[in-house]
Amino acid sequence: MSGASYAPPVQRLVTELSKLPGVGTRTAQRLAFHLLRASREDATALAEAIVEVKDKIGLCEVCFNLTDEPRCRICQDQRRDHELVCVVEEPSDVIPLERTHEYHGVYHVLGGALSPIDGVDPEDLKIAELIERVVDPVGVGSGAVREVVLATNPTTTGEATALHVAELLRERVPQVKVTRLASGLPVGADLEYADEITLGKALAGRRAV
Ligand SMILES: [Zn+2]
Repeated sequence: MSGASYAPPVQRLVTELSKLPGVGTRTAQRLAFHLLRASREDATALAEAIVEVKDKIGLCEVCFNLTDEPRCRICQDQRRDHELVCVVEEPSDVIPLERTHEYHGVYHVLGGALSPIDGVDPEDLKIAELIERVVDPVGVGSGAVREVVLATNPTTTGEATALHVAELLRERVPQVKVTRLASGLPVGADLEYADEITLGKALAGRRAV
């Protein structure tokens, strides 16, 4: 069955769905037909949920995690340790770390990993913002930052990013302890796929870099 034979609105839906990560044309077609069969109510709920996140969700002004307020809930939480900052690549990496229940500090979301080949340079990530934040701490209940945990992915780009950030921190704020998650995480995999026990152990066994 060729996509060209669909009515234009169906083709448009298939095209949009196939832009989603991990969704090929076949899956996009399956999802489109599922939505065509779904109730108008369910289909509208999905469409509205997409529009709502685009309208309401932005980045936290302190840590660049996703939030519907100027500051995310974690940054606003006074019970958390604001002297401990965990650096991750993406907002989706915060979720598995939170699930471990081992981490009670705050986060800093870089927005990706260094990859010169893909044109991702330090200025494309929130690295300067991290250094500034550690040099001159902001945020509710924050004192000086005591430790920065580098929890970028155990991939080539994640390791390169951790090294770069560690070097900058050593240069600018040598008094701050810089640590990296312990090995044991599946190499080459993303943090978000690690189970919480492995991730909790990697966190507890973090070592100075
Ligand atoms: Zn935040």
